[in-house]
Order: sequence, then C-alpha cells, then structure tokens
Amino acid sequence: MIKADRHRWLSDHLQMATELVHAGVSPEPHTGAILTPIFQSTVFVQESVEHYLAKGHSYSGSANPTVSVLEAKIATLEKASIAYCFSSGMAAIVTTMASFLRQGDHCVLSHACYGTTQEVAHDLFGQLGVEFSFVDFRNIAQVEAAIRPNTKLLFSEYPTNPTLYLTDLTAVNAVAQKAGAKHVCDSTLASPMIICPLAFGVDIVIHSTTKYYDGHNMTIGGVVACASAEDGAKIFAYRNKHGSTMSPMVAFFTLQSSKTMHLRLREQSKNAQQIATFLEGHPKVQAVGYPGLASFPQAALAERQHKNGLHGGMLYLILKGGAHIRKKFLKTLYRPWSFGANLGAVESLVSCPAVMSNSNMSPAQLNGIGISEGFVRISCGIEDAQDLIHALEVTLTAL
Ligand SMILES: *Cc1c(COP(=O)(O)O)cnc(C)c1O
Repeated sequence: MIKADRHRWLSDHLQMATELVHAGVSPEPHTGAILTPIFQSTVFVQESVEHYLAKGHSYSGSANPTVSVLEAKIATLEKASIAYCFSSGMAAIVTTMASFLRQGDHCVLSHACYGTTQEVAHDLFGQLGVEFSFVDFRNIAQVEAAIRPNTKLLFSEYPTNPTLYLTDLTAVNAVAQKAGAKHVCDSTLASPMIICPLAFGVDIVIHSTTKYYDGHNMTIGGVVACASAEDGAKIFAYRNKHGSTMSPMVAFFTLQSSKTMHLRLREQSKNAQQIATFLEGHPKVQAVGYPGLASFPQAALAERQHKNGLHGGMLYLILKGGAHIRKKFLKTLYRPWSFGANLGAVESLVSCPAVMSNSNMSPAQLNGIGISEGFVRISCGIEDAQDLIHALEVTLTAL
C-alpha cells in the first residue's frame, strides 16, 4: 500500500480512485515535492561493502527509484505482490515467456492475440524449440483440448486486440491449475478500471503501459504484475538479462498520467457506448463490436466480469462494401478523429488492423478471426461524444 506514510492514512483499503492518485507515492522526504522526482542517474553511491544496497539502489539497469515507485503503484492497482516495468509492452511479453518457457515446453495462446505476440511465438520462441497452440479462448473446451503434458503457460489476451474476444478468466485458471501451468493475461485493452485479472486468480497480468496507463500518446512502456513473489523474482532476473527496464523519464510520465485513469476510462467508456449505439443503427455499417452492446455475443460475460459498469474505450466497426470503402473512410474521416496505430489515449483514433497491428496475418487468417475487409478499429478518446458522432455521421453519409 502507501508504506512511507501509512501512519497518516486511516486505512490500507482505499477505493480505486484514491489508489490511482496516491498508491506508491509519498512526498519526497528532503524537499516535500509532491511528485516523485526523476532520478536520472545510472549509479547510486554505496557507503561500504558491508552496507551495499543499504539505500535500496545500485544501478538503474536493475532498479531505479522513480521506476520502483511506479512499480509499487501498479502492484497495488493490480492487486499483485510485485510488479516490474519494462521498456515496452513487447519487452514485458518476451521476458515473461522467456521466464517460464524452455525448449520442449508448450504454451497455449489466443488465436486472436496481438499481432506481434503471435510473431514472438512463431519467429522467436518457436525457433528455439518451444511449442505453441493457437486456440479460441472464448471456447474453454478448445483451451482444455490444447493441453499437453508439457504445457507450462496459458497466455490469454483480455480483450483481444482488435477483435475484443473475452475470456472466462476463472474457467481458464481451472484448466491451468489442473495442467500445472501458469495463466498469464495481457489485459492491455481493458485497463484495471475495467477488470483486474489477478482478482480472478490469474497468476500474472501484463500491460503495455503505452496504452491506458499512459493515456496521452506520450510514451512506450510495459509492466508485468505477479500474484506470487516467486514469479516476480523470475521476471526480475530475466528483465536484467534482457536489459529491458523502463527509463526513469517514462516512469515519471506514467506516474502522472495514470492518476487520471479513472476519469479517462469513464469518459472513454461513455463515448464508446454512445458511438457504438450510433454506428449499430447506421445503414453504411455492417456490424459493430462493443462489449457494452446488448448485441455483443459475450455481453453476459462482460457484465459479469467488468468493474464499475464500464466496458472500455475500444470498439470496432465493419463497413459495408469492403477494402475500397474502408480506405475512403480512413482518408476522409473528419477531426477530431485521427488515423493512427496507437490506442487508449485521450485523442480518438481509428486504425486499420489488416495493414497495421495484424499485418503479419494472411487474408484467410484475418477472416478467420473476423477481420474482414471493412474492419476498422476505434479507440475512443475523451472529446465530446456529439462532436465525435457528428464527424462519423458526415463521413459515413459521404461514402
Ligand atoms: C500494444 C500492445 C502490445 C505491445 O505493446 P508495446 O508497448 O507497443 O510494445 C501488446 N499487447 C497488446 C494487447 C497491445 O495492444
């Protein structure tokens, strides 16, 4: 919790909004600075061999005080015993796989997971003799059927980017437990405002902090938060070997931006709900996917697992008329919308997964997970919903 000045707090059990602002952070003892300073230093001078590490830090490649504060904050928010920050979401994913998979081991991955995660499986660990099965995590029977005697890791993505497939986390935990494997969940697209996978018993949660933790299109970063300190120790050891820690400057930015995550996610979810509802009725639109819509195939699961009655800022639409119409839509869409590859920030963005995040997949593979030619990913920002809807309406009408 908020250890340094615990005595001044009435309770360790604070609400999410309070934790987002204060967890991990306390005024700097020498000056009273309310914001955590950026400790832009590689080395921390030691008193003696006997007192090596007495002040907790030696070399920023292993641990930096600004990064450590962000790690303490995220550990609290994710209900983890320990968290480690990385230079990117991909660094967090690669280090997690490297920590738990050896030659001859097997990992079950979502067939709709993030494009670069699929590439890491095929081109990196696959080449080193790790086996992978790609299955539909919406279907627990498929996950169960994929288990082999050498299965060490079940890797879910919640929700999947960009298809928004949800997973019954408790059911996957049960399969993992029976197999003696770990359940790791990349919950980047949800954020802890929507779901806290560790509260469901998941072993490890991963975020690309680039997305909702940052929320301002400002930084690239990642985090791995572990339920057990033992798993955390492995992650720490492999982060050192990979040399992929977060920089103090990025940690500082993320410390500030994460304080408003609850305000942003409320607005983003509200905008997404209104935009999805508007798009669903539009004659130029073939289909809309948003977990807050009654028509969403997993609406009941979303309702059961999501916190605060919120379903996040991500949705997708499928335009009638295929690739040509999608190109025209992306080219002519009015501001405040922008066309770009990031998500989760205050600026509303549209993207084209087939040529961006999922360009590694063949047309047949894309179709297999519902990314048809008219598919557009939408990341809702915090602008006024009416302005966003008006821009969509005028653009769609002119298609
Ligand atoms: C963006 C993203 C990543 C990769 O994160 P980077 O910070 O870009 O390395 C991993 N998983 C998901 C679901 C993502 O959306």
